[in-house]
Order: sequence, then structure tokens, then C-alpha cells
Amino acid sequence: MEFRAPRGTRDILPSEIGRWQHLESCFQELCRLHGFEEIRTPLFEHTELFSRSVGEESDIVSKEMYTFLDRGGRQVTLRPEGTAPVVRAYLQRGLASQPQPVKLYYYGPMFRYDRPQAGRYRQFHQVGVEMYGAGTPAADLEVISLCTSFFNRLGVNGAELQLNSVGCSRCRPPYRERLVSFLKPREELLCADCRRRHRENPLRVLDCKRPGCRRAITGAPLLAEYLCRECSEHFLALLRLLDRSNIPYRENPYLVRGLDYYTRTAFEFVPREGNDSGSLGGGGRYDDLVEYCGGPATPAVGVALGVERILLAMGEPEGDRYSPGVYIACAPGEEEAEVEALSLARELRDLGVVAEPELTGRSLRGQLKLANRKGYRRVIIIGPRELEQGLFTLRDMVGGSQREYSRSDLLAEVTRPVSGPNSE
Ligand SMILES: [Zn+2]
Ligand SMILES: [Zn+2]
Repeated sequence: MEFRAPRGTRDILPSEIGRWQHLESCFQELCRLHGFEEIRTPLFEHTELFSRSVGEESDIVSKEMYTFLDRGGRQVTLRPEGTAPVVRAYLQRGLASQPQPVKLYYYGPMFRYDRPQAGRYRQFHQVGVEMYGAGTPAADLEVISLCTSFFNRLGVNGAELQLNSVGCSRCRPPYRERLVSFLKPREELLCADCRRRHRENPLRVLDCKRPGCRRAITGAPLLAEYLCRECSEHFLALLRLLDRSNIPYRENPYLVRGLDYYTRTAFEFVPREGNDSGSLGGGGRYDDLVEYCGGPATPAVGVALGVERILLAMGEPEGDRYSPGVYIACAPGEEEAEVEALSLARELRDLGVVAEPELTGRSLRGQLKLANRKGYRRVIIIGPRELEQGLFTLRDMVGGSQREYSRSDLLAEVTRPVSGPNSE
């Protein structure tokens, strides 16, 4: 019998985990510096949370959710995105009564039944932040600039910030009507999805990537022309803040994002180089969602970024060939040497040094080969002669030079940081 992982999932192997951990710690550190605190919500929620907040007509809810009945007959869904669960926790757990703004971040797997392709998985990962109780353009800027700092620190170049205003519950409905009547005579051009949804959610047609839909919206009225005064002022103030913060951006009047809950600011980070793995992530303002979910009227803004896509955009890291730790080789079959190797390993770990003792009983030659393959530059060798004289051999795998040390000198030597691979 041969088991294989389900389509659209992947294993994150030890050889790649370093990049993941680097990305995660970079994000955590930036969130900490910006005053965001971590929240961890369940991987599944009641289906209704997503269908109501993300929107029945959205692609996510209509065709991408992992929904099932549990053994108690409840309909639950593996979370397809992070915002709705955080809003639910914000309301259910009393965060709404804490001093505002409440600033939260999350990291973890999300699930969508989507066509797997480069950088797109059915179990994928997102990092995201949510800010509740701040409605100013400055709050939008904080969230956007956290993202640009994140990309800078990771060395992700060429992520273009695109943004738009999708208006509010006052100015969007009249625009929506205009758009519906504009699209009506062009209905044959639309793809099947857009034909189905253009009456319910005509804005979605604006960011459909299919050629027919692109043609259908040529000359369409733009939401920018219909924004109410407050929405328009908010957007212009955000653009001024971005200018003064030296954050480059491009206005994209067709950007609406795939979720129904956005109001006013919507933004996305799009790779400039022609690759179709899609955006690195995006977000925006969702001033009505908390109230819609049963809470008090609360302005909110957030972002979610796709970890797999960012890792693709990061390119290859400069490999550090050598591990900073030590491998402890010992003469096979010598119990005394083994005991010494294990105790030395414990002592080194207490001093903060990565230490891996021999565990398989292979030959000394085989152990050195293994240490080399695992990238250890330094190997401690414990044999019968060393045990007798109370000395330890330290071998430098780069030049092959060896020196003998007393136990205390050895500890001092090994806890000293290693210099570059070509020194000596
Ligand atoms: Zn408005
Ligand atoms: Zn379409």
C-alpha cells in the first residue's frame, strides 16, 4: 500500500523549514514592534460565520470551502480565511470592551478547495493583522506600512501596492445600480461566473481576470466617481499619507477584492514581474463587519498575506553551508566513549550549543562522513586513547586539521563562535 498526501497539500520539509521560520519570526517581530498581539483561533468554525461575513456569493463560500457535518450533525467549515474567526473571537471573548484600537495578528493554515498550482495549495498559510476601533486613514497606513516593512525585511522585491476605495453602504448601492445597467447589454461577453453573479455582486466583475470580462468592463463607470464625500476624503488622505511616508503605490480603480465585507480602502500587493501565481495578499477596511456580526458599530482594517506566495517571491536564500553546532563522534562499541559523548552533548546544550552525538554505532569513518553531510564544521572525536588521557580531539572539517583539548578547554573552544568557512 502506498500513501500519498491529498492533492493540494504539501509537507514542509526540514530542508525548507528555515525559510518558513525566518518568515514567521520576521512577521512576529514586526507585529510586536507595531503593538499587535497574537491571537489563535480554531481551525474550524460554524459554516454560517463564513457564509454570512465573507458573503454567499463570493467564490470562497460558493465553491471553495471545506464544509462537513460533524458527528453531532453540526455544519462546520475549515477556516478559509482569518478575518471572520478573529471578528467572532473579538465579539465573543470580550475584546470589544478593551481599550481601542484592539490590534491583533495571526498566523496559520487556511483551507480552500481551489485548483492547485504554483504557490497555491488547498491547505495554505497566511499571516495577517486586524485592527478594531480605529477608522482613520492613519490606521490604514499602519497596516500597509507593516506589510511593506515585512517585504523589505524578507527581501521581497517588486511587490506593487495597488489600492482603491470600494466606498461604503451609502455610496456603493447607487454605483452598483449604474454598473448593473452598464453590464446588461454586455452580458454575453461575461464568463459563466460573472454572468451568474453580476446581478448580485456586479463589483466582482471588475476584477475578473478573464478576457471577455475585461472587455465587458471597458468604459464602465468607476466607483471613484460615485464615492460620497467622507469616503473620498478618507481615500485622498490615505494617498497623502502614503506619499509622505514614501510608500509607492498605484491606484487601481478595478480592484475590489474577492470578499464582500470590504468598505472604503481595498489594497493588494501584486508581483510586478509577470507571474500568474496572483497577489501576495491584500486587505482593506471592513467598517460594517463587526456590527453585521452582531457587535457594536466598529471601524476595522486588516490584511492577510499568503505565506507560500511570499516564499516564492523571496527567491533563494544565501545558503549558510555550515551548522554552528558540533557533531560528537565516538569509537563504536565503546560504552565509556558513548557515555562521555552523551554527557558532553548535554553539557554543550546547556551552554546553548547545538550538539549531536553519534547514535547508530557506525564506524568512525562513517561518522565523519555523516557529520560532513549534515553540515557540521566541527566534530569532537572521543576514542579509547582520548578517554585514557582525558583529552578530546576537535576536528575542523574544512581543512581537516585536528587538535586535542582538555575538557574545559574544549568547552571554551566550542562555545566560541565559528568564523567564516574559509578562515584558517
Ligand atoms: Zn461612502
Ligand atoms: Zn468573469
